Amino acid sequence: METAQMLYPEVRNYVAGNFINSSAETLEIISPLDGSLLSTVPLSGETELNEAVKAAQQAFPKWSAMPIKERVQIFFRYKTLLEQNLEELTELVHRENGKTLGEARAEVEKAIELTEFACSLPQLVAGEILEVSAGVECRLEKKPIGVVASITPFNFPNMVPHWTIPNALALGNCMILKPSEKVPISANRIAELLTEAGLPAGVFNVVNGAQELVEAICDHPDIAAVSFVGSTNVAKIVYRRATSNLKRCVALGGAKNHIIVLPDANIGLTAAGVAASMSGCAGQRCMAGSAMLGVGPIDNIIEKIVEEAKKIIPGENLGSVISKEAKERIEKYISEAEKAGAKVLVDGRNAMVSGKENGYYVGPTIIDFVTPDMAIAKEEVFGPVLAIIRAKTLDEALQIENKSEYGNAASVFTQSGGLARYVMENASAGMIGVNVGVPVPREPFSFGGWNESKFGTCDITGKSSIEFWTQMKKTTTKWNPEAGINWMS
Ligand code: NAD
Repeated sequence: METAQMLYPEVRNYVAGNFINSSAETLEIISPLDGSLLSTVPLSGETELNEAVKAAQQAFPKWSAMPIKERVQIFFRYKTLLEQNLEELTELVHRENGKTLGEARAEVEKAIELTEFACSLPQLVAGEILEVSAGVECRLEKKPIGVVASITPFNFPNMVPHWTIPNALALGNCMILKPSEKVPISANRIAELLTEAGLPAGVFNVVNGAQELVEAICDHPDIAAVSFVGSTNVAKIVYRRATSNLKRCVALGGAKNHIIVLPDANIGLTAAGVAASMSGCAGQRCMAGSAMLGVGPIDNIIEKIVEEAKKIIPGENLGSVISKEAKERIEKYISEAEKAGAKVLVDGRNAMVSGKENGYYVGPTIIDFVTPDMAIAKEEVFGPVLAIIRAKTLDEALQIENKSEYGNAASVFTQSGGLARYVMENASAGMIGVNVGVPVPREPFSFGGWNESKFGTCDITGKSSIEFWTQMKKTTTKWNPEAGINWMS
């Protein structure tokens, strides 16, 4: 590959503090914005993984023995570096993922917030101590688990790696990151900045690859824990394989998030919230509200949503989707729903951006009178498409929501506190919004769904992630021989 034609240098694995050349086959990284060649990425396998695990194992004793207050000093510096490099990191996400610059900047700002949370971990992980019988004390500490792995998807090249990196490392673990092979450039920059912040060599390593590498991670005897974020099918494969190899695993999957709109909802707030939820990041968010359950007479609200959607212009305030295949898949969902009798109110098929004819764009799409049995109502479309399903009652809407195999998020738009509370109680999802279309819990609250949107007990961020990245050590001590021994001590 002629590197001169590429916008970024070739992506390399980062092991023991060095970028290393790989002899593995490479994949081209094409910007979905305009089809330009950005870089290449190696598809590494077991051999490269073994090297990275060895480096992480070597770094672990010293890193894990360092007091957490010292470890987080590196993340204070790292947070400043993220802030100083905000625009460059934003541009990178924009180019490799295709989302707008504003969305890319918000993603990096979220990574900064995640790092800020990690800096607060010393305040949260202080252990417990109790005199359990005369002179006998029990103390509990949260200890790192060893070498861990984080496998990430294409839709947030910077933020999702930060769901795991700062917390897992600040808590004393060493990590192998396997970024999405579709958007691996950000991960190389993250590695450089962590090193610049003072992270010792081997604590953080990046190995690039795809399915074969993920399988090797799940099978590796010296990796203690695997976190995964991606589609449900792969989450199931990873969860089953990692846990069958006796590793702890949290695997976040796909989503089909419902927004329930009641007739008393504030029209402006609802229309803006629904339109932003379905179209933000071109609908390529696991929190996208892709199915709207309209209860009763809500035609006036739908009209306003259509008005809002028409203000969303591909290439301006709407980014691209990730690939040609994604564009075709999304457009097929729309055409099939139309064929099955749904009514397309706003049609984003065949979108083109002038000057970016080789980019992959789908315009905002609103489809009314979708029925719950249609594929577009049940499956994750992952594009800027809203399927509106009409329901006669709130209970009927909740039944449809409850039937979904997923359970990441659900929202309700209403001005009634009682009805909002009814939805909060009865929706089957891990993250609920009331008059909020994208109910992402910010730090210190944790991120994670229910049902087939997450496998494993802990959430991936916030306080819940502390349980995932640590193991508890309970020590019982006795220094008073005069107290004698009884069966309780
Ligand atoms: P994906 O499942 O295709 O890929 C995720 C990771 O798994 C990548 O690193 C990829 O290399 C690897 N992979 C792909 N196929 C594999 C296979 N057969 N065996 C082993 N590993 C494999 O997901 P994606 O397309 O990159 O990302 C989009 C998906 O991620 C959507 O379903 C979205 O909802 C989901 N997602 C979920 C959350 C969440 O919090 N629940 C967050 C972000 C994205």
